[in-house]
Amino acid sequence: MAYVYILENKVAGRIKIGATVNHPNDRLLDISRMWRVIKGRCQICLNWRMLVDGRMPDHVQCTGSGELPLEYGTQLAEEQLADLQEQIQSLSYSDLNFATKRIKNLTKILKNYKENPSRLGVWELRASFKTDSAYLAEEYVHLKLENYLDRKAPFGEVFSCPPEKAIAVVENVIAQLENQ
Ligand SMILES: [Zn+2]
Repeated sequence: MAYVYILENKVAGRIKIGATVNHPNDRLLDISRMWRVIKGRCQICLNWRMLVDGRMPDHVQCTGSGELPLEYGTQLAEEQLADLQEQIQSLSYSDLNFATKRIKNLTKILKNYKENPSRLGVWELRASFKTDSAYLAEEYVHLKLENYLDRKAPFGEVFSCPPEKAIAVVENVIAQLENQ
């Protein structure tokens, strides 16, 4: 069993829909920390970690340790992107695929962080559903609400549709999966 959860930020007019094996309140705590930049995203490895005095904590084998997270600076990430773009001309085919994906991902993330408006409001748990098909349901729901996807949100699975609509879609998808 796992949960499909819907978090709502009324002020920002956004919802987040995800699936988790943990309690949805754990996800709420985590998302709230990301939103309030208590957790920050490393400019080098792009992982989220609890900040220490506004900087990334030491984390193994990453030169982003001790540096500013993406929320407070993008210089390291931009340097990484420039290096990759320079290297790509001399890479063998097998490395090329990895580097191309990385460049695409970094470009997208940097664009979002630069354009991202201020983070208003707080996140609340709006609804959760316990089901055996949580992860599959999450996938279908994301597809059904694709037109509402907020691509500029600092984390994934954020949508601009009304929570009532999302709840109806989630209930419908779960009912269909459970009746199969
Ligand atoms: Zn890192």
